[in-house]
Amino acid sequence: MEEKKRTITKVQSSRKAASEAAEEVKATGKKVEGMTKAEEKSKAITLRIVSAILWVLAIGCEVLAMLVILKALRMPGAEKMRIWWIIIFLVADAILCIIAGFLWKKAAHLAPFKKNNKFVFFILTQLGMIMAAVCFLPVIILVLASKEDKLDKKSKIIVTIVAVVLLLITGLLGFDFNPIDADTKAAAENQLGDYKKVYWTRFGHKYHLYEDCQAIKNSTDVSYSEGEEIDGEFVPAVRVAMDNGCTGLCAFCARDAEKEGKELKGVVLEDGTIAEADETANDLTVAPEE
Ligand SMILES: [Zn+2]
Repeated sequence: MEEKKRTITKVQSSRKAASEAAEEVKATGKKVEGMTKAEEKSKAITLRIVSAILWVLAIGCEVLAMLVILKALRMPGAEKMRIWWIIIFLVADAILCIIAGFLWKKAAHLAPFKKNNKFVFFILTQLGMIMAAVCFLPVIILVLASKEDKLDKKSKIIVTIVAVVLLLITGLLGFDFNPIDADTKAAAENQLGDYKKVYWTRFGHKYHLYEDCQAIKNSTDVSYSEGEEIDGEFVPAVRVAMDNGCTGLCAFCARDAEKEGKELKGVVLEDGTIAEADETANDLTVAPEE
């Protein structure tokens, strides 16, 4: 009920803004709404459950493909059709696995895992890629090990190529190239939470603190978020950017923020490294004020 009310007021206010300043909307791009911590968490849980279900279904398709290869499962159609059934099951396997991987990655940006243990963090964050291996390696091994009575030479080559290509595509799409952990996300919210607006481009993986940043100045596809109170919780603009897959701070914007005396310690930069304490900023805080 409360949420409904909120959406309605949001829609009205954004419509008002749109009609009042169409020019401005064009210049600054599309506004993206933020989420409270609780909303992030519950959405992440839902996404993870759906991912798990899709992975189970993907493994189911893999098993069906294996049963057809082993001739333990007879599908309709002549013997010639058998290879097509194998390919259909493998493609379905890949589609389910790719969707699951995307949802899993989305969840990992909404509610990132803690990096207390690097190995566990890697497994959890890169589960999309790992599950791609689970969904394709067994069937590839089975095909390679199968005898002539199960698959003739030509079919064996075709199925192997199809499975390897699908494994590579699925694994690559499941891999998170811009992972984020709970602590660095919190650090960015702490250090940069007072920036009223944060900008990013649709396919970009970095966010910007300044509208006139040279990296986005000429881009026609800029989204932005605004720091605002939602359900009694202040949602910083930078959180929304990170929720939408932008994990690193743009290098130009980092430079300008440091010029303004901003402390960036703990913030992930656009090359994936974590900013160290800025010495000039430290000096300022240490310097006697009188
Ligand atoms: Zn920038």
